[in-house]
Amino acid sequence: MALTGLDIYKRLPKTNCRECGVPTCLAFAMRVAAGQATMDGCPRLSDEARAELGEASAPPQRLVKMGPEQNPIEVGQETVLFRHDEKFHHPTAVALRVSDAQDGNAIREACTAFKALGFPRVGQVLTAQMIALDNESDSVEKFTAAAEIIAKELAVPMVLMSRKLDSLAAAATGPLTGARPVLYCTADASVDDLAVLAEKAAALLCVAGSLESVAERVEALAAKGIKNVLISPGDAPASATLEFMTRTRRATLKKKFRPLGYPVLAVAAAQDATAAALDACAYVCKYAAVVVCNAWEPYLLLPILTTRQNIYTDPQKPVQVEAKVYDIGEVGPASPLLVTTNFSLSYYAVESEVEASRIPCRILAVDTEGTSVLTSWASDKLNPKTITAALKAAGMENEVKHRKLVIPGLVAVMAAPLAEESGWEVLVGPKEASGIGPFLKSEWKVA
Ligand code: SF4
Repeated sequence: MALTGLDIYKRLPKTNCRECGVPTCLAFAMRVAAGQATMDGCPRLSDEARAELGEASAPPQRLVKMGPEQNPIEVGQETVLFRHDEKFHHPTAVALRVSDAQDGNAIREACTAFKALGFPRVGQVLTAQMIALDNESDSVEKFTAAAEIIAKELAVPMVLMSRKLDSLAAAATGPLTGARPVLYCTADASVDDLAVLAEKAAALLCVAGSLESVAERVEALAAKGIKNVLISPGDAPASATLEFMTRTRRATLKKKFRPLGYPVLAVAAAQDATAAALDACAYVCKYAAVVVCNAWEPYLLLPILTTRQNIYTDPQKPVQVEAKVYDIGEVGPASPLLVTTNFSLSYYAVESEVEASRIPCRILAVDTEGTSVLTSWASDKLNPKTITAALKAAGMENEVKHRKLVIPGLVAVMAAPLAEESGWEVLVGPKEASGIGPFLKSEWKVA
């Protein structure tokens, strides 16, 4: 039975030392009881109390680590249903499917294509992180050979999918030894057979089926000591997959129903490629820890990765870049100096327009706690004093000869007081980032 906050509090050191990141032991106990923190967060907990609290205080959803030690992925241990309550913690791992029915050269080409699939977006490079190898050939040898090629070429975490336990065992104990693949048997397999496979291969299991059968089998596996498990609705339509994931998350977090407290693997297998990519986006939004899909085309993969990036940001914190001066291109003492804020979208909008103009520039991203130009101006975070302080902190008086600043047109009203505060000449740039290129090409030259 789940412990209450008071049960947990009674066993804490009660020093209110704050090392766990919250002000009191009671607040920490309440967070643990709500599944928002684990006992590991209290470094002062005695071994005796830790053992006493044991499994009962474990987070409702298990944390699962997949892949080789040098390139692991963690999924699970999510604590909320809705990201406005608290951020989601472990982003969905996107696994691109490879069929072992192809020859070795085609699999090598797929590996090359996988490496090339990266999309820069607001300061991150978005990529798929896993390969799902499908034993479509039904051949143990072909499956093992394909796994060997992928392991050598990519060394990324893998999902092995086969209806044959022999194929899974051969690949996991052969070329993927020590690589902690996820073993997903797509046919019915007994708990005993799955337990033998997991132990032999030292790998994770994916247990697929209806909610009831998954809960039953996961409990039986846990009784045998096998807890590194993902669960899945299997080859189900999108509506059933979404229902499985939603009911699982609710049962885990609201009812503390531990047999379903495992990360979910979802397969986006619709025949139509666009429909499958759309399904994958929905799975990312609704709690999938791993999504297996065929989105090898950039136009299919990018929406999935963009959805993931947006869902796994912290909605309570604006996405920020570091507040500093960025050199775009080969800048010199005569290069323009543009002012913006450290709100990611503002910064990257300016950066991409500067790059497109091919005119080397410096961009001063002022610390406005990640708020946009107008918001930060309205809240007095972007003002003559903060800009002048940022200029000084970056040592711009030694780097820039012309002593001219370009401010966003949206805050033109700040031009005169900023000139007075900083001693720099202030030029009013365009209101929209899209006007930066034309501004630099015309106004800057005559300025
Ligand atoms: S670290 Fe432990 S002892 Fe310190 S306040 Fe948190 S729960 Fe209490």
